[in-house]
Amino acid sequence: MLAELRGLNEECGVFGIWGHEDAAQISYYALHALQHRGQEGAGIVVTNGEGFQVIKDEGLVNEVFAGNRLNDLKGHGGIAQVRYSSENGRGIENVQPLLFRSTTGSISLAHNGNIVNAVELREHLERQGSIFQTNSDTEVLAHLIKRSSGSLTQRDRVKKALSMLKGAFAFVMLTEDSLMIAQDPNGLRPLSLGKLGDAWVVASETCAFDIIGAEHVRSVEPGELIIINNKGIHSERFAPAADSAMCSMEYVYFARPDSDIDGINIHMARKRCGKRLAREVKIDADVVTGVPDSSISAAIGFSEESGIPYELGLIKNRYVGRTFIEPSQELREKGVKMKLSPVRQVVNGKRVVMVDDSIVRGTTSKRIVTLLKEAGATEVHVVIASPPLVSPCFYGVDISTDSELIATNRSIDEIRELIGADSLTFLSPEAMLESIGRPDTTKNCGQCLACFTGEYPTDIYSDTALPHEKERVR
Ligand code: AMP
Ligand code: SF4
Repeated sequence: MLAELRGLNEECGVFGIWGHEDAAQISYYALHALQHRGQEGAGIVVTNGEGFQVIKDEGLVNEVFAGNRLNDLKGHGGIAQVRYSSENGRGIENVQPLLFRSTTGSISLAHNGNIVNAVELREHLERQGSIFQTNSDTEVLAHLIKRSSGSLTQRDRVKKALSMLKGAFAFVMLTEDSLMIAQDPNGLRPLSLGKLGDAWVVASETCAFDIIGAEHVRSVEPGELIIINNKGIHSERFAPAADSAMCSMEYVYFARPDSDIDGINIHMARKRCGKRLAREVKIDADVVTGVPDSSISAAIGFSEESGIPYELGLIKNRYVGRTFIEPSQELREKGVKMKLSPVRQVVNGKRVVMVDDSIVRGTTSKRIVTLLKEAGATEVHVVIASPPLVSPCFYGVDISTDSELIATNRSIDEIRELIGADSLTFLSPEAMLESIGRPDTTKNCGQCLACFTGEYPTDIYSDTALPHEKERVR
């Protein structure tokens, strides 16, 4: 049970809209822009003020909404999600948004992140008679809302329920008369508010606003609950803001280069990380290449600063899903092979700098070093635009257990040897923070660094960890 729930980490993209007659169509386009955040399931729930309509299924956005299915969704308010889940979180029942119908008020929910005290809350709720339909920690919030005292207003019930959650959560919630948006007290997952004409929109990433022609208004603040209805927009706190801790991996890997998080453009941040690496390490090489797609920005930065020409040394087969999405190690290795090919004419006889955004298990780097050498590269210098990942993520990013991370308990030279590179360089946490350049003056510039340092911005509950990890959990 513990292992099962620990495995439920999700990487998702959420979207919400209120006040637009084509809520479903707009949500559909937004989901396309967020597709990189999860490829295993997609769903849209809309309301026209009287009940809800829902379409959701496993698969890509295109597949889930194939044909004229969208025409069945009519409403002026909607929420939507694309999701990635680990093996245990699979199944149509776990695809979001979740919809809970009730005579005392129905609610639909979608969530990005991971609630670290979900097991504890769930056990408590089950003891009180709640029956859960899914494995998802998102469902815990619905039960908490339902179970709060009947004398409270709906807004107070939602606030009370949210205040019981610990961890990372960016929620979009839909009732027949409102769209509600909530961000956890540390603001661990990105969530931005925008306007589309008179309608309000909210999305995990601002690239979703660009595709629908919406204007970015601001980030949703840590501990904030926003309620949007036909009377307008209302903001309040359900918890005091804690130290801001935006996920660093959003800047490093997840977010699309054309998105901005808290006013920082992702492409520019990654480019600055690449430049910084070029200042810190001098490598005699002939070409710089990046691992498509997430490392291209850092590779361009490295090339610009070092003066070593940038070349297209690796090509990605666009029609294969992200390497990491494959559920088992065996499948992952197959995925890597199918996904990337070296351009022989570029690398043959050359000393190559290969820039990647991160090393998790080491599978990708090892495979690419081999591919480049097989294609004739005389030297391969691996440059990583983030620090070594040494601790698991409990906040919804599938950075697995300590034992699977190549950098846990290994020196840089041992990792270099394992991946077969001629040299290996990482960015230090300080250099990464400076390069990303958030103006935030709070701890770590308002970023979470837990997977790089082992220092978690929230309490970690023992039920979040796998049994063998328990000892290292605070
Ligand atoms: P690995 O092969 O396990 O070392 O994974 C490293 C590759 O996965 C890098 O090329 C990254 O671009 C990518 N990556 C890093 N973090 C994640 C993550 N949390 N989910 C999916 N892919 C990731
Ligand atoms: Fe992001 Fe790492 Fe923090 Fe998880 S532990 S939220 S991946 S920075």
